[in-house]
Amino acid sequence: MAAYAYETHDYDVVVVGAGGAGLRATLGMAEQGLRTACVTKVFPTRSHTVAAQGGIAASLSNMGPDNWQWHMYDTVKGSDWLGDTDAMEYLAREAPKAVYELEHYGVPFSRTEEGKIYQRPFGGHTTEFGEGPPVQRTCAAADRTGHAILHTLYGQSLKQKAEFYVEYFAIDLIMSEDGACQGVVCWKLDDGTMHVFNAKMTVLATGGYGRAYFSATSAHTCTGDGGGMVARAGLALQDMEFVQFHPTGIYGSGCLITEGARGEGGYLTNSEGERFMERYAPTYKDLAPRDYVSRSMTLEIREGRGVGEHGDHIHLNLSHLPKEALAERLPGISESAKIFAGVDVTKEPIPVLPTVHYNMGGIPTNYWGEVINPTAEDPNAQVPGLMAVGEAGCASVHGANRLGSNSLIDLVVFGRAAAIRAGKVVDREAKPAVPNKASIEKAFARFDALRNAKGGVPTAELRLEMQRTMQADAAVFRASKTLAEGVEKMDAIAAKLDDLHVTDRSLIWNSDLMETLELTNLMPNALATIVGAEARKESRGAHAHEDYSARDDENWRKHTIAHVDGNKVTLSYRDVITEPLTTEAEGGISMKQIAPKARTF
Ligand SMILES: Cc1cc2nc3c(=O)[nH]c(=O)nc-3n(C[C@H](O)[C@H](O)[C@H](O)COP(=O)(O)OP(=O)(O)OC[C@H]3O[C@@H](n4cnc5c(N)ncnc54)[C@H](O)[C@@H]3O)c2cc1C
Repeated sequence: MAAYAYETHDYDVVVVGAGGAGLRATLGMAEQGLRTACVTKVFPTRSHTVAAQGGIAASLSNMGPDNWQWHMYDTVKGSDWLGDTDAMEYLAREAPKAVYELEHYGVPFSRTEEGKIYQRPFGGHTTEFGEGPPVQRTCAAADRTGHAILHTLYGQSLKQKAEFYVEYFAIDLIMSEDGACQGVVCWKLDDGTMHVFNAKMTVLATGGYGRAYFSATSAHTCTGDGGGMVARAGLALQDMEFVQFHPTGIYGSGCLITEGARGEGGYLTNSEGERFMERYAPTYKDLAPRDYVSRSMTLEIREGRGVGEHGDHIHLNLSHLPKEALAERLPGISESAKIFAGVDVTKEPIPVLPTVHYNMGGIPTNYWGEVINPTAEDPNAQVPGLMAVGEAGCASVHGANRLGSNSLIDLVVFGRAAAIRAGKVVDREAKPAVPNKASIEKAFARFDALRNAKGGVPTAELRLEMQRTMQADAAVFRASKTLAEGVEKMDAIAAKLDDLHVTDRSLIWNSDLMETLELTNLMPNALATIVGAEARKESRGAHAHEDYSARDDENWRKHTIAHVDGNKVTLSYRDVITEPLTTEAEGGISMKQIAPKARTF
């Protein structure tokens, strides 16, 4: 192996990732007086969060009555009773505070007549514990909310003197002999130098792994690098079988049309021009949660009522909405529809199809963002020195299905929580421990082997094989037979990682090697997804199993824990946390209110 010289950087905290979660954590850590580095493989404001359109959920009550208990109830029900109750309470309670902080940092929210933050309805967000009409809870900056948040948080982080390492690719975690995280090993993409970030706390905020699938709304950078690093460190992934399909990806390109389009009054139709959601969800119709709408659309297509030449998609209608509303509230998607579908939304419907959008699963944490690695003896065993936030993490507030606009709020609430926690537990005076040399060498050895890979399979070819298999066999609807076949195929596909061929051996701007590292990260995420799905013999949230169509709380109200070693996945299970943070007597939600029941809309 080539010897790699490296530079060492000592910090209190290193945050890997500069999306909404990474930046909110970075800003918070710096505000706490912690010396903080933020490492990111793309320029901060190019992170996938920039593409978030519709908005961020918080019960501000700016446009009608709302409260955190209703938000919590909707999140519990949305999760199909797989979310952890303490974390869901924390999310709903802290959400208004976190949004007002964003406002004060300078996020340019859209406004009501009175100058308050504008809020729109979103799927699954209701009043009166699901008994009342939809609520306007989703705070928006037109249909560019993620863009507004990301730019604001980046500016504020710079103001707080957080230090940015841009276009540094984190390869692997540095783990001590006794299982504590000591930082990350990074490759600087533009000059080929190597860097060790040695920190008392490492925060993974690396985003989702949508690119494990063929058609996804997520950026090409969403390759589950945090999950890959965690798997290689022998740590756990949780609930990976729950993959959200967004109902309205543009047919053909996968580019997203925000749920805000339906929030503003848009509706879906089939080939008969029928508003079919009225049949599936009589109360909330087009504003039922995403898993519900995606399944209904898929059934319409299967039953021969799809639109277009091949009857393989659905129409989203916006042309009945006032032109001014479209221009003011949905300018971004009007443009996307024009570019990617050639459609003028003021005149024609947009062709749409359920498209992979979000990963409910991820690196398990408590509601402070501290990573846990459940063992038989201790289901809540913590990994010292390691946190995970944002889509990479699994707190778990989304359980089996995430509600729209609940991710952006997850990023800022838990990014902020991680900073508050680190402010308490990180000893500012201590020097970081000397990083484990063997762990650093192991990361370089893996890097070097991939850099010099001379096998028979090009990275792009293997990636496509994985993406097609996941798209076909771990889809909106799943069945025992296709899942079993999918597991077998993925096993063989993952084995081919040993036979990769990398053409470019240089260390500078080597996208071939970077994409190869990303593929080695996507693979453990994909394996955990399909193996977890094959094992789960029930239907819950986004996991719709045709041979087990009912939810089975007695046997399956539990988190799937996956340890992935090479192409071998070992599953175990962990109880869902059913206790809220506060009792009813203390002003919390009543246990009766959130007891599991049938999920109808
Ligand atoms: C098109 C689209 C629209 C959406 N709209 C909404 C919405 O309106 N409301 C809502 O609530 N949710 C929405 N979501 C979901 C939400 O935007 C995402 O879940 C969220 O933005 C993820 O943020 P994150 O900070 O976890 O990760 P990301 O924003 O994906 O950022 C990941 C960061 O990690 C860095 N990184 C990754 N790997 C490495 C590595 N190996 N080394 C160094 N750095 C690395 C990247 O450079 C990047 O900075 C949307 C998602 C999509 C795809």
